[in-house]
Amino acid sequence: MMETSQIPEEIALSRDRLMLVFTWNRSHGESPARRAILSSETLRLACRCAWCSRDRILACFPPDFPGVAIEKVVPIGNHALHIAFSDGHARGIFPWPYLDQIAAGKTFSEILHDNPSTKIPPAQASDRI
Ligand SMILES: [Zn+2]
Repeated sequence: MMETSQIPEEIALSRDRLMLVFTWNRSHGESPARRAILSSETLRLACRCAWCSRDRILACFPPDFPGVAIEKVVPIGNHALHIAFSDGHARGIFPWPYLDQIAAGKTFSEILHDNPSTKIPPAQASDRI
C-alpha cells in the first residue's frame, strides 16, 4: 500500500546525470526532511522490469553498470517514476514505495526477501512507453 509519505516532494537530477536526489516531506512539518541520494547505477541495478527480471532468473543480469547515467526521468501519474538510462535501457518503472525501500539502503534481493509475496510486475506499463 502506498502512503503519501512515500511520495517524494522533490526529485533532482545531478548535473553529471549520475545521481538522483530525492526529498520527502519537506513542507509537511516533519523535521528533518528526509533526503536520499541514489546513484544511477544503484537504480539501474534495481530495475525490475520484465527484461531485467528475466535476466536475473537466467543469472545473466550484470553485477554492475559502470558509468551508466540517467537520460530521462518522468513521473508516471502520482505512483511511480520512469527512468531511462544511458545504456539504452528505458523500461524501468520505479513505484514510490519501491524507491523508498531502495533509499533505505535495501538491495533488490533484500526487498524481494522482505516481501516474499511481492510479484515482480510484468512490463505492462513500460511496454507502452
Ligand atoms: Zn529493466
